[in-house]
Amino acid sequence: MIPAAMTDPTLAQRLLDGDRRALARAITLVEDDRPEGRELVKEVYPHTGHAAVVGFTGPPGVGKSTLIGAVTKARRSAGRTVGVLSIDPSSPFTQGALLGDRIRLTEHFLDQGVFIRSMASRGALGGLAEAALQAVLLLDAAGRQDVFLETVGVGQAEVDIIDHADTVVLVLMPGSGDSVQALKAGVMEIPDVIVINKADHPLTDTMVREIRGVLSLANLDRSPEEARARWRVPIVKTEAIDGTGVADLVESLEEHRAHILARGQLAERRSRNLRNEVLSIAIARMRRGLEDELREDQEFQRLLEKVVERRLDPASAAAVLLERARRD
Ligand code: GDP
Repeated sequence: MIPAAMTDPTLAQRLLDGDRRALARAITLVEDDRPEGRELVKEVYPHTGHAAVVGFTGPPGVGKSTLIGAVTKARRSAGRTVGVLSIDPSSPFTQGALLGDRIRLTEHFLDQGVFIRSMASRGALGGLAEAALQAVLLLDAAGRQDVFLETVGVGQAEVDIIDHADTVVLVLMPGSGDSVQALKAGVMEIPDVIVINKADHPLTDTMVREIRGVLSLANLDRSPEEARARWRVPIVKTEAIDGTGVADLVESLEEHRAHILARGQLAERRSRNLRNEVLSIAIARMRRGLEDELREDQEFQRLLEKVVERRLDPASAAAVLLERARRD
């Protein structure tokens, strides 16, 4: 039987026209890893690349959702259309439950100019990252001028997704000492913009000083010319809950975009990200293919037994496997 979406040539067209229902349907197709979803992305891909994609990351509870709500409001007042994608790799909940929880964004639910969607982990993390990146492409193709990507947590896993944003915002709050340590130790990459939210807290300025220190250390190994040409990471203080400082954040986002556009860095960044995306999709497929192929493979079983019995080391076994794959 031919799947419904394949007999619906208008889905792509409706998506490109900015139809919200078509967009919602399309994202579900990629989220469910359906072939029609891949077909759709293939079809609309030439129409992408126009959205300004901003990734917000940071520990849970610092106010990312509230901040995205406030930035969305500002962008809507400026007449821009917005798409928000919340990605929670750790959550076992379905999107419904997550969305219900996102009350901070409810004031935008009735606005046609705002499209909000949550994606939670289903199965492999690689699958979620791939689906999330496809969802960004769909939002872009549907003409959303600003796409805000929210990832929860600061572990390694989110980094993949957030890396694909044009601008990365790290949101912290006074007392997020762990994150400052992670920046200092180089565990976490230096973002493009740092926000200290809940800035009415007495420890805010101490935190700003600490982060300034970390950022200046990160610049020590550069020549003075390099340091000058480089984007200076702004530290913006906000109170997302009442909008204080949000205008400054929006200004920093615009300045960062102008900076990377003027120096050709946006194109560089995107081509590097696309290269990584192509490679990671290919690697994930190869791995899946190899695992499927080897599941019932007797020769592979015998090879593994030899490794278990300490007669063959793991690297040599892998070499035998690769040699065999090359011959086939
Ligand atoms: P997220 O987990 O990073 O998305 O954080 P949320 O946006 O869900 O915010 C966590 C909590 O902090 C919520 O109860 C917010 O109302 C609250 N919050 C967000 N921004 C501020 C702020 O600027 N000041 C204060 N006092 N609370 C805030």
